Amino acid sequence: MKNEKLYREAMQLLPGGVNSPVRAFKAVGGEPIILVKGKKARVWDADGNEYIDFLASWGALILGHAYPKVVKAVQEEAQKGLSFGLTNPHEITLARLVVEMVPSVEKVRFVNSGTEATMSAVRLARGITGRKYIVKFDGCYHGHYDSLLVSAGSGVATFGIPGTPGIPEEIAKLTIVLPYNDVEALREAFDKYGEEIAGVIVEPVAGNMGVVLPKKEFLEELRRLTREKGSLLIFDEVITGFRLSKGGAQELFGVEPDITCLGKILGGGLPVGAYGGRRELMDRVAPEGEVYQAGTLSGNPLAMVSGSETLKELRDKEPYEELGERTERLAKEVSRILLDKGIPHRINKAGSMMTVFFTDQDVYDFETAKRSDTEMFAKFFKALLKNGVLIPPSQFEAWFLTTAHEDDVIDEALERIDKAVKGL
Ligand code: PLP
Repeated sequence: MKNEKLYREAMQLLPGGVNSPVRAFKAVGGEPIILVKGKKARVWDADGNEYIDFLASWGALILGHAYPKVVKAVQEEAQKGLSFGLTNPHEITLARLVVEMVPSVEKVRFVNSGTEATMSAVRLARGITGRKYIVKFDGCYHGHYDSLLVSAGSGVATFGIPGTPGIPEEIAKLTIVLPYNDVEALREAFDKYGEEIAGVIVEPVAGNMGVVLPKKEFLEELRRLTREKGSLLIFDEVITGFRLSKGGAQELFGVEPDITCLGKILGGGLPVGAYGGRRELMDRVAPEGEVYQAGTLSGNPLAMVSGSETLKELRDKEPYEELGERTERLAKEVSRILLDKGIPHRINKAGSMMTVFFTDQDVYDFETAKRSDTEMFAKFFKALLKNGVLIPPSQFEAWFLTTAHEDDVIDEALERIDKAVKGL
């Protein structure tokens, strides 16, 4: 068994056998699979098993695996050199696409991951306002930067870690954590700390406690209060950017943040992050301004063409309605399958992302998300995997659809899910 052999080797060489914790399948048990190939909506492991993939590289893919136009552009660019460390034309192309597509962004700085994007956005907010406090919401995950790894979702939620050793108390204290969707708590925090809050960072649709939708007044009140108190509103659209609509959640809800963080889809499968906003804010970033941030591989030409080709497809084809309809059908049918088996659940969805929670109550924040039966989730995950359906190996994540998840793929996935659930 190649998979098993590779995993044993990985365990000797990488902490936990992985380079990102949730990949270790700890929350669901069993040995993680090692993937060797992806095509359209499917992936294959080292033993040759095929899976319909709803992980989609944690949402980084929206056109499916190995999308021909993207692969071709990367191959052609690779022939010309892999990295220069000075500006290349593709940075301008991608920046133009971002500015054109994301409503609040007039200027953008590229980095290499979502974590770098949120870290830099927080620094910029502190640099511009001269204030130190950052507000974040319980269950939102913004990457593994010190100030934002407090009461976080995703892997931190999966492993039940309140914070992490390595972050001094003095730093953690500068982060105010509030419940998601709680307008009252927000008003109270602003009453108390308003003049000291540099910025508020939020996933405008949460994906990292599982999918949780924002109440309308939550985002609106966030916008109003930050404006009134001179704090910067940071939308972390690392997941939602280019996924919920071509302009992300801000376009969908008509609420414009001061700074937007992007990642995942932005790189079309290669490592790219970005933060952007109004010109006068972004001009405070070095070398134009005094807030320092830099990167040897930032704007890497391969990553820029991969991102540009992906965004061009999204801009020109606008596949969002179709993606939404297919997700709706998937959710409805999965729900029916679970009901037939008498398994209590709630499915939250937004556009092409969804989460099945194993609870009989609505999920609207981290506390309600945590009511989900994670043992049931683990059984469900394993049964799906055995039947050739890959979903994220944790309750507190989102399933993602891509444009390659066409109707016949959804049908096939539903057959496999039905068989898996019947066998539970
Ligand atoms: N922000 C959000 C909303 C995310 O979901 C993630 C990663 O899952 C990040 C930031 C961090 O991005 P990265 O893993 O690229 O550092």
